[in-house]
Amino acid sequence: MPADPLAFLADEIAELKAKSLYRPLKVLQSEQKATSQIDGKQVVNLSSNNYLGLTTHPRLIEAACAATRRYGVGSAAVRTIIGTMALHEELEAKLARFKHTEAALVFQSGFTTNVAVCQSLMTAESDLLISDELNHASIIDGARLAKAPRKIYAHKDMAGLHKILEEGKGARRILIVTDGVFSMDGDIAPLPDIVELAEKYGAMVMVDDAHASGVLGANGRGSVSHWKLDGRVAIQIGTLSKAIGSVGGYVAGTQLLRDYLIHKARPFLFSSSCPPSVAATCIAALDVLLEEPQLIELMWENARYFKAGLVRLGFDTGASETPITPVIAGDTARAMRLSDRLYQEGVFAQAIGFPTVAEGKARVRTIVSAAHSRAELDFALLAFAKVGRELELIR
Ligand SMILES: *Cc1c(COP(=O)(O)O)cnc(C)c1O
Repeated sequence: MPADPLAFLADEIAELKAKSLYRPLKVLQSEQKATSQIDGKQVVNLSSNNYLGLTTHPRLIEAACAATRRYGVGSAAVRTIIGTMALHEELEAKLARFKHTEAALVFQSGFTTNVAVCQSLMTAESDLLISDELNHASIIDGARLAKAPRKIYAHKDMAGLHKILEEGKGARRILIVTDGVFSMDGDIAPLPDIVELAEKYGAMVMVDDAHASGVLGANGRGSVSHWKLDGRVAIQIGTLSKAIGSVGGYVAGTQLLRDYLIHKARPFLFSSSCPPSVAATCIAALDVLLEEPQLIELMWENARYFKAGLVRLGFDTGASETPITPVIAGDTARAMRLSDRLYQEGVFAQAIGFPTVAEGKARVRTIVSAAHSRAELDFALLAFAKVGRELELIR
């Protein structure tokens, strides 16, 4: 028998286990909702990105079923061959109206959207891509695929950004990329300052609103609406996988940007389009954002209530300004212990450790949605109080 060429995997896994970084997948046996069946137990679910409870909204379910019955289950082609269905175009027109931009283009996920845009816009050694150190992994990977050199500034450090811009003055194209809401800390990017610097240096700004769409701004339009920067941010990225409740990502910007990406963005050119049910679901979700804005208000009320409760108990919730509220536990093992104990007490909040967050800043990350009841939030706060004292995170 020849030696197993994959034998090294056993060592790699053993190493993860030795560092207590090995985590079996948690399995959801119910719909994604405020109280869910996870690994065989009913628990208050504080880990989904289902901000508005749209994963189970009747209008979205009906739209998905109707589109499947009418158009089938898949597109079976890439967009540039024959995978562009009328529903895709309808969704894009609707997204553009929603974002107050000329045009929008949908990709298979938020991840591929970021990769596609960074790679296709930054095509020469003489370009410059500038990124916040806490930007999402998909921006980091997009930057790696780009031909341009990349420069990283310390988190939200505008003096650092200014310095990089000053040093990079001769670049052919400059792209500044930032998360609108940072996914691990729930803080908001200083977009007005970024835009002001970008305008001074003739740079493009790209904001990734994965956690801001459906959350910030009028009707959940995102960071640009939140900061009243309409027309001043060249590239807005959104996801359809979080608050929108389905899956996919999009770019909103000018018609020229859309045309360019259709011809140059590799995930658009070489990966098939989303099924009609997904496009129809997202169209219905945008209608819900426009017609039921009370869901967004309810989510914010719940988020403020829960965050205030954690702070009152004495937890360190970091720099959070949004429904993403981390509960900082210290080292990774302690964060995992906190998460495990919460689960035993009937609350699911996933632990996030190094290297996703800095060493010593391991945490459980909570996200409260419009779908949580006060009773569910109070139940979760009681569990946090009990377990927090036990682990000596609070007194
Ligand atoms: C989740 C996330 C993405 C990826 O979106 P998907 O649609 O899940 O691929 C991109 N950027 C940020 C900041 C995110 O939090």
